[in-house]
Amino acid sequence: EKTNETFEPICIADMASQEDLIWNISLQARIDAALDNGEIYLAFQPKVMVQTGEMIGAEALVRWKDPVKGHIPPDYFIRQCEIAGRMSQLTKFVLGAACKAGKDFEDAGLHLPIAVNISATLLHERSIVSMVSRVLEETGFDPRRLTLEITETYRISNLDLAAEILGELKALGTKISMDDFGVGAASLEALLKLPFSELKIDRMFIAPMTNDPKALGIVKSVLQLGRDLRIIVVAEGVEDTGTLTLLRDSGCVVAQGFAISRPITFDRIIEYHRHSQDEPLRDMV
Ligand code: C2E
Ligand code: MG
Ligand code: MG
Ligand code: MG
Repeated sequence: EKTNETFEPICIADMASQEDLIWNISLQARIDAALDNGEIYLAFQPKVMVQTGEMIGAEALVRWKDPVKGHIPPDYFIRQCEIAGRMSQLTKFVLGAACKAGKDFEDAGLHLPIAVNISATLLHERSIVSMVSRVLEETGFDPRRLTLEITETYRISNLDLAAEILGELKALGTKISMDDFGVGAASLEALLKLPFSELKIDRMFIAPMTNDPKALGIVKSVLQLGRDLRIIVVAEGVEDTGTLTLLRDSGCVVAQGFAISRPITFDRIIEYHRHSQDEPLRDMV
């Protein structure tokens, strides 16, 4: 069902450990059924131009609404998916649903680039290339409008193999983005060796930048790095207009975050698009 809710995940961190274990096992066992019966679906978060508020893309974020427990945090069930060996099934579902949505946006007159998150662990095998190319073929979505955000790049064990696989994905026409930039040890090495055309500064640097000069320094350096490498830098996790203004003044071009829009439903993306044309973001900052 499509609602106007804002996808606040429930907190399950404080469950007793025995209960935890049972819950984890039940999640792992229910993944396939949940994919089939609509418990797992997508939300979309706008990526906007800092200067104008124009929406230049939307990131597909997977959601799992358990009929009893409500929303399960993605970080949490994605981990369980990995443990259960179901990452590739989940990713296939997300890619399919995201490209289908991209096509439906086009039918609604909105030619919106769509970003899909891809776990670094999927770059250990070539099968991701045929999966992406099959989904593109089946949905008819323009590959040039698909961005693959590689999450947790520091988990890539073989950068040479990952470089080959990403090269093949790029050859299909897709764009490759480095998610969570700055987190983990291998960020710069991965940036050197892999064919990224975008990097997303992790929100751990964006959130404190208005009151921590160190965080601000790091953000400004990454923005300069992006200019030198000629790749787009996206600031994620922008939670207030002060941060948005500071990003604009630091030369940041693209941003994402609760201050701009929370992850929202397909229908609300279309509304957001109409609204942002009437009332550009520049009036807010
Ligand atoms: P991510 O790719 O870095 O996605 C951004 C996360 O930050 C999302 O959390 C989003 O809801 C949240 N966020 C956006 N703006 C703000 C903000 O202003 N403040 C704060 N505090 N948070 C904000 P979400 O949806 O819980 O996803 C968490 C992570 O789960 C994602 O991080 C991504 O790594 C992973 N993920 C989500 N969907 C998928 C998927 O389909 N496949 C894979 N492999 N990973 C996914
Ligand atoms: Mg992402
Ligand atoms: Mg991110
Ligand atoms: Mg992140």
